[in-house]
Amino acid sequence: MTEAERRATLEAIAQEVAVCTRCRLHQTRTRAVPGEGHPETEVVLVGEGPGFNEDRQGRPFVGQAGAKLEALLTSIGWRRQEVFITNVVKCRPPENRDPEPDEIAACAPFLTRQLEALDPALVVTLGRFSMARFSPGARIGQVHGTYRPADAASGAPEALAYAMYHPAAALHQGSLNEALFRDMQGVPEALVAARARRRSAATPTDQAATEAEAPAVAEVSAAVEPPAIAEAAAIAEVPATIEAEVPAAVEAEVAAIAAIAAIDPPPAIVPSPEEAPPAEHASPPAPEAETRPAAQLPLF
Ligand code: URA
Repeated sequence: MTEAERRATLEAIAQEVAVCTRCRLHQTRTRAVPGEGHPETEVVLVGEGPGFNEDRQGRPFVGQAGAKLEALLTSIGWRRQEVFITNVVKCRPPENRDPEPDEIAACAPFLTRQLEALDPALVVTLGRFSMARFSPGARIGQVHGTYRPADAASGAPEALAYAMYHPAAALHQGSLNEALFRDMQGVPEALVAARARRRSAATPTDQAATEAEAPAVAEVSAAVEPPAIAEAAAIAEVPATIEAEVPAAVEAEVAAIAAIAAIDPPPAIVPSPEEAPPAEHASPPAPEAETRPAAQLPLF
């Protein structure tokens, strides 16, 4: 698909979303929020659903959660215009309640079609509703900060899905702020893995050889459960047994980039003083977290 075709497809979806009446959320919305971003991006961020400000403006993540998301992106040297940002449901649930299963189901085809058009290498899931779509059965308290192949039915069957807490969670629970910024530092590495995985998929013979040598390498970080949180508690008690199938070649590439970063470290992570995490980490930080190659991994 050319860039022009992508743009046209995304615009057509947005126009359908704007007048959608597939579920009850259309009755209370001011504006639908289809999503926005760069049509040629490799990275799609998927949140839960619009809030008050998004409903007024028709744009995703423009309120307080949006400010947090932008700070998170800035911490790895990315800008929101370089990614695509959308939500599981495109209309605001009243009083910002959780979306209902039938609302999520009614809206799902829009996200599927957006993903098919964008064909991202990496999907960053923001919160448990988004995570559930790409990594069904996973528990966010266990998998945040890690990636795995996106569920084949998600619309992005060739993408890796990287799980993060929802940015709004940090507004309510300070301890999650630290986890969010730390997890964000793993996103460039996940993109490197996602790129390599797609390259392997494009050359099946090489992939078979690589997999024969090194069957599966999995997760990036975040082994320890953070403090009990409402978000984690609300999720069904399903063991997370999914593993990322990432060839060893990916690990080598990641290590090489980490080495570059160690020689030429990027600027320190940039949460502002009021959102700076406490010195004590809630779960073990990846040792190289502060020296990962944000500046060495531009999106464009
Ligand atoms: N929270 C979301 O999940 N999405 C938005 O667009 C804004 C807040």
